[in-house]
Amino acid sequence: MRAEGAQTPGSRTLAELVRTLGTELRERYCERVHKLALDTGFTCPNRDGSLGHGGCTFCNNESFAPSAKARPDVLEQMSRGAAVVAKRTGARRYLAYFQAYTNTYDRLDRLDSLYRQSLSFPGCVGLSIGTRPDCLGEGVLELLARIRDEGHLVWLELGLQTVFDHTLERVNRGHGSDVYFEASRRARALGLPVCCHLILGLPGEDRGHALESHRMVVDAGVDGLKIHPLHVVRSSLLAAQWRAGDYAPMSLSDYAEWTADLIERTPPDIVFHRLTGTCSEDLLLAPAWCAKKWDVLNRIESVLRRRGTRQGSALRLRSGTDPE
Ligand code: SF4
Repeated sequence: MRAEGAQTPGSRTLAELVRTLGTELRERYCERVHKLALDTGFTCPNRDGSLGHGGCTFCNNESFAPSAKARPDVLEQMSRGAAVVAKRTGARRYLAYFQAYTNTYDRLDRLDSLYRQSLSFPGCVGLSIGTRPDCLGEGVLELLARIRDEGHLVWLELGLQTVFDHTLERVNRGHGSDVYFEASRRARALGLPVCCHLILGLPGEDRGHALESHRMVVDAGVDGLKIHPLHVVRSSLLAAQWRAGDYAPMSLSDYAEWTADLIERTPPDIVFHRLTGTCSEDLLLAPAWCAKKWDVLNRIESVLRRRGTRQGSALRLRSGTDPE
């Protein structure tokens, strides 16, 4: 399985310009904490027929869950991930990252059991739960709040992708942006930190769409942001659209410039969980640069350095304060 560094975005020097989850966790626990990505066999209402069968047009779940074929239990997955992390960095603390599919889409007792299994792993400090905003049924947020009250860190990662409903419809997302804002409000009212997942380069969207999505999310209140470029993976509807010439992926240069725009407009207390996506080369069709995470992060950093900006710079300029 993949052991995912919680210091994402991973560049040390980029972390001087951007508040990363890695920095946040290191300050809180006084040592490195790594995210361990888990695939515990959840499905998704947009794939199992409850909402639809095809899923989002860009979805091939294998692109973000490389371990989906062979699925060891939670503790085995954590153990394997921890072994990789130990070799790489020597870290001894972990965040259990329920990443694949929709990680609140099951019976409450099964969710409770899976979350608690992960927390029983030695060194596990908490959970990061990736899910759709329309899958927070009866008792789910309360369960997460209880786990938080027991002393664990809990992040709720909500997929929004864009605030533009016509785009959400176009990518067959199966929910509108209003569902995200209501879910985020409910979670934050319980004191649960929310990380909003946005995708840049969605069909029909430009820099202005990215800026507006980011503005609305930040204005509504959010604790973390996860940003990545739309990539075309095998066995997705988007792949057929791309082959037919109906979708053109964005360039690395555009992605770095747009992402820098968003970083500059993000208040300094908001934590970036991710600034680019990862996809295995055997699944990725386009754009090819998506396979090179470090190149993307370096490019974002070089844009910020060229501009002399950092997280929150645009806000300080707007309020009349000199940038650092
Ligand atoms: S919500 Fe996630 S898992 Fe479900 S279809 Fe969309 S991308 Fe795939």
